[in-house]
Amino acid sequence: MRRLLIFFSFLFLFSLSGQLAAKQAHVKALRFWTAPDSTRLVFDLTGKTAHRVFTLDNPKRLVIDLKNSRKTRSLIQPPVNHGIISRIRSAPRNKKDLRIVIDLKKPIAPQSQILPPNKKYGYRLVVDLNHQVKTHYKTAAKVKAAKTKAKIKKPAARIVKKKKISPVKTVAYKQSKQLVIAIDAGHGGEDAGAIGPRKTKEKQVVFAIAKKLQRLIRNHPGMKPVMIRKGDYYVGLRQRMKIARKAKADLFISIHADAFKNRKVKGASVFTLSNKGASSEAARWLAKHENAADLVGGVSLDDKSDVLKTVLLDLSQTATRDASYEVAEKVLKNFRSIGKLHSHSVQKAGFMVLKSPDIPSILVETAFISNPQEERKLRSSRYQQKMAKAIYNGILDYFQYSAPAGIRMAKATTHKISRGETLSEIALQYGVSMKQLRSLNKIPGNKIRIGQVLSIPQG
Ligand SMILES: [Zn+2]
Repeated sequence: MRRLLIFFSFLFLFSLSGQLAAKQAHVKALRFWTAPDSTRLVFDLTGKTAHRVFTLDNPKRLVIDLKNSRKTRSLIQPPVNHGIISRIRSAPRNKKDLRIVIDLKKPIAPQSQILPPNKKYGYRLVVDLNHQVKTHYKTAAKVKAAKTKAKIKKPAARIVKKKKISPVKTVAYKQSKQLVIAIDAGHGGEDAGAIGPRKTKEKQVVFAIAKKLQRLIRNHPGMKPVMIRKGDYYVGLRQRMKIARKAKADLFISIHADAFKNRKVKGASVFTLSNKGASSEAARWLAKHENAADLVGGVSLDDKSDVLKTVLLDLSQTATRDASYEVAEKVLKNFRSIGKLHSHSVQKAGFMVLKSPDIPSILVETAFISNPQEERKLRSSRYQQKMAKAIYNGILDYFQYSAPAGIRMAKATTHKISRGETLSEIALQYGVSMKQLRSLNKIPGNKIRIGQVLSIPQG
C-alpha cells in the first residue's frame, strides 16, 4: 500500500513538472517592420507570458525580459543599414527566463503588448519603437550642461522671441491651392491582406498600384499625392484617417484586392461608407474582412469612442458621403473600360478607413486575388498601371465638375523623365500613343534620358 502511495506521488510530481515545462513559452521567430517614424518588432510565441520592456544607456539598448520563456530558433537580424537597430541578441536568465537585448543606434521610446492568437498567428509580443525621442537618454552630466546653457541664454532668447512674431500672411501666401489626394495602400507589414493561389500578397500588389497612382498624381499640375504608408509596414485604420487629415487631403482612396472562397468570382468593385454599416450580406462579409486588419496589425484602439463620436455628430458627413459616392461612380466608370466589374454599381459597406467625416473617401477592390487569372493580372506591372490610370482618370473626372473653389483642373502638358521610366510607360500613363509621343518630341527610337522634359500630346 505504502509502495503504491509513493508510486502515485512520484507520478503526480512527474506530471506536475511536465506541465510546468509545457507552460514555458517559446520564442519561435521575430519579424520586424520599419515605418518612417517607428519600428515594430513582432515576436511569435507559443504561449502567453509575462514580460517587461525597458531601456538602458551607455550603450543605448532596449531590454525585453520574458518570464518562463526560451528561444527555440536564432532570431533574424536587421539589415546593416537599419536606422535604429544595430544588433539583436538574447540569453537565458534566472534559469527559466529569457532576456532579449536590442542594441540601438538612436534613442527610442518603447511600447509593448502581448496579442492573443488570431486566425493566422498564435500569441505575439509586439514592441513598437518610436523613433521621435529627443529628451530621453540624456546622461546626468548632459542634462546639467543643458540646464546651465538654458539659464545663461534665457534673457537673450526672450528678446529674440519677441522680435520673431511674424505676420500670418507669410504662411497664407506659401500655401498653394493644390488638390491633395491621400493614397492608402491596404494592409502592410505583418498584415499581408488576402493571399492568392500563387501566394501573391494583397499588401504587395496594392502597394505597387498605389505607387503608380502616386506617380500619375505627382505629374499632374495642381495635384499632390500623399502616401498613407510609404513602405511595407502596418498603419492602424484610424491612423490612416489621421494621416490623411493631417495632410489636409481633399480625397482619400483606399486600394485593396478582394478574395472569396469561390475562386471563379472576379472583377473590380468600388465602395463608399454605408449609412448603417453594411448594406448587404456580401458587403458585410467584406467589411468584416477589411476591418479585421486592425486585429492582425495589433493596433491599440484607444481613440475609438472619440472618433466614433465625431463621426456620429459631424453634420458635414452627409455632404462628404455624397461626394464620396460621386468619386466612386467616376472610378467605377473608368474600371468598366478595363475589364469585368464585380458589381456594376457603387457598393456600400462599413469600412473603418472610410469614416472620415470631412474627407470624401472610397475603397477600391481592384480585382479578386483569389481568382487565378486575376491574381496573374495583379502581379503584372502593365495591369497595375491600367488600374492606377483608371483610378486617376476617375479622380480627374470627379474634380472636373467638383473642384474646390480656387482650383482649376489642368491636363498635364509636360512630363519630366525620372529614373526607370520607359517611353511606353509614359504613353500609357497619359493615355497617348507611342507614335504621338515620339513625333511631338522628335524622338526617333526609344531612347530617353533622366531629366528630359517631354511634351504630352493634348486632346
Ligand atoms: Zn484588403
